[in-house]
Amino acid sequence: MSGDAAKDGAPGPIRRICIVGGGTAGWIAAAVLAHQYQGMIEVDLVESDDIGTVGVGESTIPPFLQLLAGLGVSESEFVMATQASFKLGIGFEDWGGPGHRYFHPFGTIGQMANARDFYQIWLRAAAGGEAPPLLAFAPAHAMAEAGKFMLPFKAPDTPIAGASYALHVDAKRVARFLRGFAEERGVTRHEGIVTEVATRPDGFVDRVILNDGRSIAVDFFIDCSGFRALLIGKTLGVGYTDWSHWLLCDRAVAVQTENVGPPPPYTLAVAQPAGWRWRIPLQHRTGNGHVYSSAHMSEDEATALLLDQVVGETVTNPLPLRFTSGVRERGWDKNVLSLGLASGFIEPLESTAIHLVYRGMEYFLRFLPGTDCAPELADEYNRRVTADYEEIRDFVILHYCLTGRRDTAFWRACVDMELPPSLAQRIALFRINGTIPEHVDPLFRSVSWQALMDGLGVRPRAYHPAIDRVAAGEVNRELGAMADALAGFVATLPAHEAFLARHCPAP
Ligand code: FAD
Repeated sequence: MSGDAAKDGAPGPIRRICIVGGGTAGWIAAAVLAHQYQGMIEVDLVESDDIGTVGVGESTIPPFLQLLAGLGVSESEFVMATQASFKLGIGFEDWGGPGHRYFHPFGTIGQMANARDFYQIWLRAAAGGEAPPLLAFAPAHAMAEAGKFMLPFKAPDTPIAGASYALHVDAKRVARFLRGFAEERGVTRHEGIVTEVATRPDGFVDRVILNDGRSIAVDFFIDCSGFRALLIGKTLGVGYTDWSHWLLCDRAVAVQTENVGPPPPYTLAVAQPAGWRWRIPLQHRTGNGHVYSSAHMSEDEATALLLDQVVGETVTNPLPLRFTSGVRERGWDKNVLSLGLASGFIEPLESTAIHLVYRGMEYFLRFLPGTDCAPELADEYNRRVTADYEEIRDFVILHYCLTGRRDTAFWRACVDMELPPSLAQRIALFRINGTIPEHVDPLFRSVSWQALMDGLGVRPRAYHPAIDRVAAGEVNRELGAMADALAGFVATLPAHEAFLARHCPAP
């Protein structure tokens, strides 16, 4: 929007934005704005050390690296500064019952020059009993299982080239890093508690007032105040769509421990009687948590169960957390955008919350409004964000509903529940011939759904007829050679810990 247009009566551009909250969400928003709009948009951020942050978001997914690249941040410097480790996927234990294991690998599962859909080739071979397990073709899984790591893009034309990866990060160090980044680029931080939010007659937010009387009046506000949802919820009254009837877990307890042994390059998610527990290995310590349903377990029981299972001395006291899986009815309303926990939360099984923050920021900057905040722009933003949340919701529910576990009331409730129609349809389609409907810009691509369905024992009744255009005999022989080549190559790679020590040593 040009200044001239503003003079002609059109809305002027946004010149000043205030972010309320300085958790991971607030500082990601500040860093992105400062990087892309330094000198054009003035950014203020209010946070309160007295209130603090949730600070347990420590497992990320591959697009996180695009955020770093987009900010021009060196990945290895970031890994060093946050004591991060590499993550090749998530290992699930005991979900289908004691001893059952499956894995959600990042990146490809098998690639063949003469087949667009590797899964279908594999399915035909597996039906004839002629194929190694699906995960034998997933380079990220092969590295994770062996405790090895190499940056896939540094190994082009090798069997691991299709792997992808993310990071395990220390949430407090990430916030510190992003804060430094944003402040160096002109973001002004205000320490204080927002005690009042004043609105204009048209319902837009006018200013926030701090406990010491300071007030900040700007064109646009970003609500990153966490579960408090101070602006979007408390002030504008935008409701919350509650999905806790599908995602039963609503509590967590988190504790950090000393490292015992080298950090594995994946997040571990172990099923529990009323939920699951995580292990997130960093270079200097391990994050642990127990996510559970308060309708099926008490806080004391959940804490005791976690402490009983962690390996290594605890270095923090257990931290209890409460949440409701769901999404804000409109993440952007009037002149308030909400990000992070203020805009919604899907329980952390697939570590998607931080991703949704910069995904929201990416959409917002694509639709950046003028000072009138045209509602059509907000509508389009909200449509996309809701679709993202629904996609993740379905993906997470899939882990619970297909386990077949009936040993506790919690698992019986998961298996017996009526699914969201979108997920029920997806499972039905897959059972026919492996068909997977993909969104235009999905977070979880077909391979992720295939890995989960296969891991949880869902096998399509038939493969797609088009596969018969590829001759079976030679292709099936090629499969065995491919799996062997991947395993052989992975054996030559450095251990994850050795890779970290060589490329990203602790500061
Ligand atoms: P918060 O961290 O709560 O920050 C809120 C900010 O608002 C703080 O700075 C606070 O001081 C400020 N504030 C609040 N009220 C006021 C006020 N009145 N005045 C001034 N300031 C105020 N995400 C992942 O991506 N991966 C994971 O593995 C993961 N695991 C999780 C596990 C659990 C159990 C939970 C609950 C969340 C997890 N998350 C995870 C989510 C992740 O922790 C959050 O998405 C992320 O930390 C962003 O939080 P936030 O910044 O929105 O909120």
